Amino acid sequence: MPLNPGKVSSISTHSLLLNAYRLGVWQPRLATPSYLIHRQNHNSSQTFLKSHNSPLSRASVVSVASSVTPSTEVIQEVDKCYNKLDLTFENAREAFKSKTNFELFRALLVLRLCSVDFLVQQNQRILQLLRKTLGPTLFKRILKSTFYGHFVAGENLEEIAPTVQKIRNFGVKSILDYSVESDISQEEAEEKAVEGIVGDQEIPQAVEGVVDEKTIEATHQRYTVHKEFGDRRVDVINARTYFYTSEKECDKNVEVFCNCIDAVAEATRREGFTAIKLTALGRPQLLLKLSETIAQTQNFFKALTGSTWENLVLGKISEDKFLKRLKEFGIKTDSKMVQEWFKMVDFDDDGFVDYYDWGRLLDENKELTSMFSVLNIKTGKVEPLIQNLSQEEEQEFANMMQRLVHVADYAQEKGVRIMIDAEQTYFQPAISRLTVALMRKYNKNGGQILNTYQAYLKNALSNIEIDMHLARRENFHFGCKLVRGAYMDQERKRAKAVGYEDPINPTYESTNDMYNKCLGRIIKEREERGVGQVSVMVASHNEQSVRNAVQMMKDSVIAPSERVICFAQLYGMCDQISFSLGQAGYSVYKYVPYGPVEDVLPYLSRRALENGSMLKKVQRERNLLWREFKRRLLSGQFIYNVPT
Ligand SMILES: Cc1cc2nc3c(=O)[nH]c(=O)nc-3n(C[C@H](O)[C@H](O)[C@H](O)COP(=O)(O)OP(=O)(O)OC[C@H]3O[C@@H](n4cnc5c(N)ncnc54)[C@H](O)[C@@H]3O)c2cc1C
Repeated sequence: MPLNPGKVSSISTHSLLLNAYRLGVWQPRLATPSYLIHRQNHNSSQTFLKSHNSPLSRASVVSVASSVTPSTEVIQEVDKCYNKLDLTFENAREAFKSKTNFELFRALLVLRLCSVDFLVQQNQRILQLLRKTLGPTLFKRILKSTFYGHFVAGENLEEIAPTVQKIRNFGVKSILDYSVESDISQEEAEEKAVEGIVGDQEIPQAVEGVVDEKTIEATHQRYTVHKEFGDRRVDVINARTYFYTSEKECDKNVEVFCNCIDAVAEATRREGFTAIKLTALGRPQLLLKLSETIAQTQNFFKALTGSTWENLVLGKISEDKFLKRLKEFGIKTDSKMVQEWFKMVDFDDDGFVDYYDWGRLLDENKELTSMFSVLNIKTGKVEPLIQNLSQEEEQEFANMMQRLVHVADYAQEKGVRIMIDAEQTYFQPAISRLTVALMRKYNKNGGQILNTYQAYLKNALSNIEIDMHLARRENFHFGCKLVRGAYMDQERKRAKAVGYEDPINPTYESTNDMYNKCLGRIIKEREERGVGQVSVMVASHNEQSVRNAVQMMKDSVIAPSERVICFAQLYGMCDQISFSLGQAGYSVYKYVPYGPVEDVLPYLSRRALENGSMLKKVQRERNLLWREFKRRLLSGQFIYNVPT
């Protein structure tokens, strides 16, 4: 039966293209949201894209008008918290109220040592030397009363529980992270990256017939393992790296995550989070393969329709135009094959995305090969996009999904929320798709799962826009952790060497702008969707970002108890932000690492490097610590009892 125009209409171009997205299709080029443009154009004193170095005033940060009608209690809570918070974050007395004199002194010492370049650069050698000369027992004791004590909460649940409770008394909650890291050499890491490489991706003719060769090849290179970038730790100081050794090791990682979930449930009375990295749950090369598949599908649909995701979502592309486009490619839109393909991408024919295959992505019984198909415009046949995955690789992918679902189920059962970390851009299409699939499954009644978005990416806002749109259509909670991004130098070097466009914003200022835009867009979504549908964690040590978020909460009348916006910083860093927020009543978390001393040395090493690289921030923290230390001594508080 020929495809009649009426039928096409009922299938709807819009839904077809939404499904195209669902298959991982577009990199939208979204304009600045109109309300932001309005602000920039008409109210220069409240410009959203405020310089991060400019002097602070409450009026200088952005405001977003709210359309959700707040109750009197909400207004009172908002005002109370806002008035209590010193937005300069310079109230050292409040900020360090939870610290004993010894802890203040230790913080001063540790941060001072982090400013000595030689010590920072040679930290691993120095630690090894100390361990050798002092012996393991004394080494451990010294470390525990210095670096380890400052940056790590303890070795096990018993040790961390008092710390978790203590910071909770000051309004700061915990995200527990078992921070044991691989300590392998660069050579080993590079070997591991190429070991057991999965079959080379063969591009199906269907894609080749539509997308130009150059684009296909550039995409392929981007999502291929390059041995020289195999050590994913190089140039990365504020993120942990997992290396694949075996399926057994991945099972062990699942155990670690589940133990961590138990620890969160016990130590934080279920109000905490646990952080998960997908590269810990399976062979990273499979994530690369999935990412390339998503990217090539995007290329295919983009070339086929000649349009952007924004146009599709907003219904700006007409059906006639789409059909005309197909005809230009020589596709007979009335053929049976095309009709079936239409049906395939619009599974239940209802004109809406039903996410059937999103569910399937997490289904360990479904083969990856069967999940992505494209229409070959020459033969009219539908072809699988992934063509040469071995049985073993299919099994490994299924194992990875099984592990992911197991961890998510376990966390849900224990009432613990999960944040999925963002990693390198060549993994992100897969990580993000899988996380949205998890959100769809677990976020029906709130923000059980949070996806991470990196504002240093040129397409950060587009990614958020798309995923929020899906959450809205499918009626699940959109949970987001917003970070700037940890892999900048490595990303830039790899893009240059491999030959694809640098995915990172050109300047620090443009990353700051992106951060603000993303946050503003999420708040706007809360206004449109209503309370309880959206949440965002401002995971940043940047004071100006925190101020902007606080100001947005004030202007949009968002109470901390509404759980729309929360904040997060690392344990041992920027306490003046976390504790000021916590004591003013805002929802704030510390990323609290724990683990045996010997096993967290790589983590400590990264902390030293990170603190050593942000001298200005560290100097500021040291000044505040010193001010409080001096105040206590001058006022005779030689023994300071932490208020309970
Ligand atoms: C609780 C928590 C969770 C985190 N989880 C993740 C995660 O899952 N994935 C992840 O990738 N990172 C994660 N990070 C790290 C984060 O991405 C940043 O690297 C780190 O927090 C520093 O950024 P900032 O916002 O704190 O402050 P800032 O010091 O103001 O910003 C530094 C950041 O700005 C960006 N930047 C700097 N120079 C330039 C430039 N020239 N051009 C463009 N951009 C530039 C880079 O992203 C850099 O890291 C997390 C951080 C925290 C606190």
